[in-house]
Amino acid sequence: MKKYNFSAGPATLPATVIQEASMGVLDLDGIGLSVLEISHRSAEFSQIIERAEALVRKLLRVPEEYAVLFLTGGASTQFFMVPMNLLAETETASYILTGSWAKKAYKEAQLFGNVEVAASSEDQNFSYIPRQLDVSSDSVYLHYTSNNTIYGTQFHQLPDTDKPLVADMSSDIFSRPVDIQRHWVIYAGAQKNMGPAGTTLVIIRKDVVERAERTLPTMLNYKTHIEKRSLFNTPPVFPIYVSMLTLAWVDEMGGVERMAQINKEKAAVLYREIDDNPLFYGVVRPEDRSVMNVCFRLHDEKLNDAFIAMCNERGIVGIKGHRSVGGFRASIYNAMPNEGVQLLVETMRDFTQRYG
Ligand SMILES: *Cc1c(COP(=O)(O)O)cnc(C)c1O
Repeated sequence: MKKYNFSAGPATLPATVIQEASMGVLDLDGIGLSVLEISHRSAEFSQIIERAEALVRKLLRVPEEYAVLFLTGGASTQFFMVPMNLLAETETASYILTGSWAKKAYKEAQLFGNVEVAASSEDQNFSYIPRQLDVSSDSVYLHYTSNNTIYGTQFHQLPDTDKPLVADMSSDIFSRPVDIQRHWVIYAGAQKNMGPAGTTLVIIRKDVVERAERTLPTMLNYKTHIEKRSLFNTPPVFPIYVSMLTLAWVDEMGGVERMAQINKEKAAVLYREIDDNPLFYGVVRPEDRSVMNVCFRLHDEKLNDAFIAMCNERGIVGIKGHRSVGGFRASIYNAMPNEGVQLLVETMRDFTQRYG
């Protein structure tokens, strides 16, 4: 049975990318070696990582003064690498708390300097994006989470500040255009919208890397990775390869402008059903709804298991909400085809026929 993977991450990848990647595992471009065994110093891998970087630069229009890095340790490592490299002990940084990931980033930053909360939506279980920001005049950067994977909210405009921004874009990178120049750093774990788990994309303005003036372990210093172009040590060859294939797919699809249009239409179909269907309701303030992670619930929670069962029967996988939120979450990243969303909508309708 054809299955549609609605998991939040690791998440669905384009079918053609999985095809290409599996061919590369057997024999990379006819060279007689698997991508799993080639040297990270080989000409073949140089081409792969250079192509990946070029695609990132093209798709997001990354200016020259920014480095594009493929690191390890997940977005969770960026939670501390950012303040460790950018925030001096006597300085202040501001954080917007819009969910669990934002709070984790905030907690790590406290290890390295003064950190203040610019705004929080915790008062209403993170069901909205706070607009009103309280940022000290001496704050050096403002950190935000562009898309809140667990709670299903998304910034549809940049935070209203003139401070440099730092963004965790793990779950909406490459889903829409980004104003790179407003940011010092953008980071994203690959496994939501860029590729498989195992690499983390970091886009960083080169002139901010040493501003904290701390003595750092070599591996935790952005400067190392900028100078060595992500090849200081053995990089995650396969995740970078599959990310490159996925970015090439986004490019062929028409780039992030076109992806944004498709994603908006896809999400609108699902939200319309949630709003129209008498059994279900959305949990997020409508204007802050995520185009990537659609969170919804049943009015009658006793029916939850029946709905999950019906989804499973039809090949809809990974729809259960995060354990801290409950309900349902449909992650409809770039690679989720319209047919997947259509199947989910039909399943909701059939469910309502049977249980409504
Ligand atoms: C998944 C996720 C993370 C955690 O990423 P790891 O790569 O597992 O460390 C951080 N932030 C956001 C917004 C996420 O969706």
